[in-house]
Amino acid sequence: MRDFSNDHRWLSINTATVRRQRGEPWPLPQILDACAARGIRAVAPWRDQVAAAGLAATARQLRALDLELSGYCRGGMFTYADATARQALRDDNRRALDEACTLGAPCLVLVVGGLPRGLAGHPAHKDIAAARAQVTEGVAWLLDEARTRRMPLAIEPLHPMYAADRACINTLAQALDLCDALDPAAGGALGVAVDLYHVWWDPLLAAMIERAGRARLLAFHVCDWLLPTRDLLEDRGMMGDGIIDIRAVRALVEAQGYAGCSEVEIFSALDWWRRDGGEVLDTCIERHRRCV
Ligand code: ZN
Repeated sequence: MRDFSNDHRWLSINTATVRRQRGEPWPLPQILDACAARGIRAVAPWRDQVAAAGLAATARQLRALDLELSGYCRGGMFTYADATARQALRDDNRRALDEACTLGAPCLVLVVGGLPRGLAGHPAHKDIAAARAQVTEGVAWLLDEARTRRMPLAIEPLHPMYAADRACINTLAQALDLCDALDPAAGGALGVAVDLYHVWWDPLLAAMIERAGRARLLAFHVCDWLLPTRDLLEDRGMMGDGIIDIRAVRALVEAQGYAGCSEVEIFSALDWWRRDGGEVLDTCIERHRRCV
């Protein structure tokens, strides 16, 4: 297992972690400069942040700063209520793939969607099996598009509390079943993003990481689960402040040969987004060394 205690070469910052600080959006160009100034070598930006900064300008800045991506957030949201929505999601996912290619991302992360229109709070129906069938259809379609661009897809299972609105793929077992069905060769085109916040509780976690193996382990996201959790979406903890045995899970993924980044992804309206962005990044580095 790699020793991170004196080294943050394998730390990546998911830029949502510092997306708005003290009530003001922290623009992506400033985030990238602040990361590079601290010797952080990788980031995972979100599409809205890239759009605000400009795609070409972001690609140029990444190159100039010698910053790599650990992933691009995000594609997916495959569930739909009508043909218009289906066409729109396909167009949007094509754009996400093209952006990921322009930025040189190692994978496009997929959050697959919950019940159709669930994110808006008014689901079109209650049939989660039908939603999952649309996800299978959507990933199969996107995989063809992704293969022509040589852009790997990483399905991120989300904690079951998000099944209605964000993702009806809720366990690594489900995600791997989908991978095996659509990409039986496991040649690297389709895999999973293991986000500790979503999967730490799973009794099959160790078995599913082993099942995934090196070929399917495309991304590793870290934060912590706070007790109590005060908000379902925006109360993620800094590594070391919660109850996830982060290092034990990193040992599991590294035992499979995973040698990529630990990507810090913290949505924290109640704490870290209220602080100075530089302080958050400095804390990420310190906790990455001590707790990841
Ligand atoms: Zn994640």
